[in-house]
Amino acid sequence: MLKVSLIVAGGGSGQRFRKALKARGGRMAAPTKIFAELAGKPVLIRSLDAMRKVSEIGEIVLAVPKDQIRISRMLLKKHGHGGVKIVAGGKTRALSVLQALKRTAGSARSVLVHDGARPLIDPEAVRKLIRGAQGADGAILASPLTGTVKKIRPGSMEIEKTVDRRFLFSAETPQLANRSFLLRAYKTVADAELATDESSLLEAAGGRVKVVTHEGWNPKITDYKDLELAEAYWTRGQGAETRTGFGRDIHRLSEGRRLILGGTVIAHDKGCLGHSDGDALLHAVTDALLGAAGMGDIGEWYSDKDPKFKNADSSKLLLGIVKQAALRGWRPVHADTVIHLEKPKLSPFKAAIRAKIAGLLGLPVEAVSVKAKTMEGLGPVGEGLAVSCDALVTLQRI
Ligand code: MG
Repeated sequence: MLKVSLIVAGGGSGQRFRKALKARGGRMAAPTKIFAELAGKPVLIRSLDAMRKVSEIGEIVLAVPKDQIRISRMLLKKHGHGGVKIVAGGKTRALSVLQALKRTAGSARSVLVHDGARPLIDPEAVRKLIRGAQGADGAILASPLTGTVKKIRPGSMEIEKTVDRRFLFSAETPQLANRSFLLRAYKTVADAELATDESSLLEAAGGRVKVVTHEGWNPKITDYKDLELAEAYWTRGQGAETRTGFGRDIHRLSEGRRLILGGTVIAHDKGCLGHSDGDALLHAVTDALLGAAGMGDIGEWYSDKDPKFKNADSSKLLLGIVKQAALRGWRPVHADTVIHLEKPKLSPFKAAIRAKIAGLLGLPVEAVSVKAKTMEGLGPVGEGLAVSCDALVTLQRI
């Protein structure tokens, strides 16, 4: 059987979405909604991951605005979609799809067109669509309308009539089209560049297009609310795996060293001895992260024999491990820490330490906790000879 070509419409410039994301403290500088993260992976990648499971699809062509080609290529490669072709889109969605359509293999009888911003598409529904299109010029996934629909008189807010919803469906993507029929429709249909979906082009060109009822939830992520709903749905359905790791570190205190805890300089007459900057708190956090990800311990990654790490900034060491954990499919979701130190009082520094750790782990401050305790004069910490830190870090599967 001939393979189907898939076109993914990557959307426009997404300025409004970017603004909303920033206002809500979104943690990635997403150029558009398709690059915003849905449970730790860009929306576009989630869409492609789903489509990858449809064996009938032989090739994928993605259309994105020209200035997003580079970031798209980088992300696709990073997430194992290096084989996807990327083309520069046009001024409208229809023109973007046309650019991609021209790049699809001439041997493909059918093309599927999918919105990159529909990440919850069920591969089984796509197969059903491909089967359902047989004998027609195209087919679309669509859901029956469930609300009561009113038609108003143009120019007023007065109801003209209640529409019989039994014959109404809300169009989704993917949409399937006979490749040569769609190419022809672009040439013959007036204002083809303004079409908001492929089916309308086929219809206008006299094609027979079938509706395949979609039972699942396949929202188009258009604003921040959609993203939050989709994330709640995704994590509920997947039951994202979490793991927690523990880390502990102790450093001697000595005169003539700066006291750095949680990447924050603490005013004190003594500081931590150590090969690196001696930040016992970040070392405990790093070890907890390594523990949760099953990646060994800090000494295996950053040897205290290696001159490269002499006086090293422990923030950078932790960032390196966050990155390595991400490559293995884990991201931090929570950290809890305790600092045991007799002197000085840490209360003036706790907020800064918390913010610093949150920044390093890519978390909102609410997801990080920093507690400080003395040892009531007991033991080496109580005698002011050392600082000891404990940390728990929880990771979630990306
Ligand atoms: Mg240490």
